[in-house]
Parts: sequence; structure tokens; C-alpha cells
Amino acid sequence: MRESVRDRLLAGYDGTADRDGVSGKRLAERLATLALIGETEDGGVNRPGFSAEEKRAKEQVMEWMREAGLDVRMDGAGNVIGRLDGKSDGPAFAAGSHVDSVPNGGNFDGPLGVLSALEVVEAWKETGYEPPVPVEVIIFSEEEGSRFGAGIMGSQAMTGDMGHEALSVLSDSEGNSFEEVISAYGTTVDEFLGAARDLKEIGFYAEIHIEQGKLLEQAGLPAGIVKGIAGPAWLNVVFRGTAGHAGNTPMIGRRDPLVAAGRFLHEVSSLPAQFSDTAVATVGKLNVSPNGANVIPEEVALTVDIRDLDKTARDGLVEKVRETAKRCAVEGGVEVSLDLASSIDPVPVPDEVREELGQVFEEAGIRPMELMSGAGHDAMILGGHVPMAMIFVKSIEGISHNPAEWSDLGDCITAVHLLKQFAEQRMVKMAAHEG
Ligand SMILES: [Zn+2]
Repeated sequence: MRESVRDRLLAGYDGTADRDGVSGKRLAERLATLALIGETEDGGVNRPGFSAEEKRAKEQVMEWMREAGLDVRMDGAGNVIGRLDGKSDGPAFAAGSHVDSVPNGGNFDGPLGVLSALEVVEAWKETGYEPPVPVEVIIFSEEEGSRFGAGIMGSQAMTGDMGHEALSVLSDSEGNSFEEVISAYGTTVDEFLGAARDLKEIGFYAEIHIEQGKLLEQAGLPAGIVKGIAGPAWLNVVFRGTAGHAGNTPMIGRRDPLVAAGRFLHEVSSLPAQFSDTAVATVGKLNVSPNGANVIPEEVALTVDIRDLDKTARDGLVEKVRETAKRCAVEGGVEVSLDLASSIDPVPVPDEVREELGQVFEEAGIRPMELMSGAGHDAMILGGHVPMAMIFVKSIEGISHNPAEWSDLGDCITAVHLLKQFAEQRMVKMAAHEG
């Protein structure tokens, strides 16, 4: 029998980080409970956005939130907001993440951020600490984008970054429109858009997330400070040539879009280094049509995913990729069309926040290592509107979006303490600012 998530987490935990009301056992049991919702054969989870499983996971967390004394509501986008009153009113300190997953995803990506934020509240409840300003624990809907190919939907609904037009073109792999899916979920498009909040209600947003990379593991650190989230730009590229029989068409004079695309792919891989150390460009999806072994293709469509923390470098790279596609088309005697399908601005974490978090790390005896987030997160959306902080937790072997995804409980609990300490300091400043 497979070792349960709970047993495995607790087996690797010596309990020494259980203090100030924080409980490793409680966090382990909650992670394990969510791991059973949408559980897959190999120990992962299937909880697509707006699925019955995602909803059940939210309902489970809502129950825990109520037990912890939070005032809980679900907005029209399915975001869950658990609120704790502060000694004074004013903008809230919010923290959270998501509970949806990619198909056969892992047990930490998302749930760790939600349950860590809740663990901080549990610790306060146990020690009798009253926050100086209101606190919110938030579960955002559909972060992963596995349902509609458009992620971070709940956070964009909350910040008002999503409009009718963007929603009207969405459909899932079974051909269901966004409207159909959301109505089965128990809400409507209007209610979804109505989830947009007055963002003056939120004074700060913090998120704990697994690193999904190996840098912390290589550095031997339990947690790190995110210095910013690289905004992705998606450039759709379509090369068009002339289809023909592989046997009857001489090599000379062919207009083969796959040959042009191949040259393009090769060149793209060397472009990011010309712009910055952190820039990346990836082609992970290629559609060849008609896609027959004995047919010269007529069309090759692909998407280049381009990211960097520095917007100028990122945009420069997008331009360079465009020029390269055009040149490869000319050289290959084919046509090309280019379309920038989406472009999200990179979100840097404010210097002052990084410094403050760095001090919290140092006081906890942890070297404050800063790292870039190459993946998008709800914090990227919130960070476009309010000051934001993200703490990454070490991922074993950097594995993510996979049932083998793992973080040790001791590292998770260390991050809970870091968030708790940071929140307590931040809230004092927020209260002083209000008063
Ligand atoms: Zn995530």
C-alpha cells in the first residue's frame, strides 16, 4: 500500500519547529486531506478549475476556516475569502493561493499556500494574538489554466483584470463554453465579473508556494524570497508553405514550412542570452498539418513562450523572436504570420518588501536567497495592484505538476513561521499608516 501523504510528511519531521502555536501535524493532516480530493492512482490529484473536485477542496478548507473563527464567503468567481477582524479597520493583510491542479498534478502546488496562510491564523488563535489590521485567507479559483488554457482567472476576476470579451471566447477541451461551465459550478458570467473588489480593501498580499525548481535545494535552503515574477508573453507563429507528396515533389523548389520552423526553433534557443541572464524562450507546442508521414506540410503553427523579470529585456526578446521568424520564413521560401496572443507585464517585488523579508529570514537564521519566479502565480495578478511578497519553499528535485512533487514538512513549517513573522511586522506598519 502506498504510504499516505500524512505519514510520509510526519515521518520526515522532528517536530522542533512546532512553536508559537504552529503545528506540523495539523498542516500535514490538512495537506493529506486535500490530497484525497480528486486523488489519482499514482498519488497525484486531478482538480481542474471549476470542477466538482476543486469545489469540494474549497468546501473542506472553508470548514477549517470557520472552525478557526474566520468569517467565510465565496464570491461570484468562486474565490473563497476567510476574514479575521483586526484591532482596527482598514485594508487587510491577505495571504493565500489556489487548490485547483493540472491533470494528475501534485499535492503541494497551491494547497501549501492556502493551508500555510490558514496555519498562521490557527497559530494566532492558539496564542491569543490579535492582528492589528484585518486578515484574509484567500483561495483563488482556476489558477492553473488546465480547464480553459487561461489561468489565474479567480485572481484576475477579483482585481477586475478580466473582461467579458476574454471570457466569451473560452471553451474547455470538451467544447463547453465558459458560461456553461460556470453555470454548472453555480454562478454566472455577470457574477464572475462582479467578483471585482475595491482593492483599497487589500493592503498587502503574500503567498507561500513551492519553488518548482532546484535552486533552493542546490543551495541547501528551506525557503527563499521571490524577487519578482517573470511575466509571460505568448507569440503565436504560423509558417505556411505548399503541401505536396513526399515522393513525387523534388527537393529543389519545395516550400516546406516545417524546415523553416525547424531552423527558427534552433535559433530561438540562443536568443534569450543576448538579452539577460534570466530571460527564457520556449516552444512546447507545435501543430503540423496535415501531419502525415508522406506529406510535405502545408502549415506549422507554434507558440513561443517568452519570459523575463525585466520588461524591457522581455519585450526586446519578443521583437528579436519576431524578426527571426520573418527571416527564417524568407530564407525558407514560406510565409509567416505573427500574433502576440498575450503579454503579461513582469511584476517585481518592491525593494522595501524584499529587504523586510530578508531581515525576517536572517532573524530566523536562514540566508535570504532571492530568486525569480518563472511561473505565473495569483501573486503576480495581485502584485499589479497592491504590494506583494512571495516565499518559495524548497521542492525536492524541483519536480512539480507531477504526483512526485514533494516538499518536506520541516521546510513548509519554516515558511509558515517566516510568513507569520513577516505578517506581524507588516501589519504593525499598516495599522500605523491607517492611524
Ligand atoms: Zn501554483
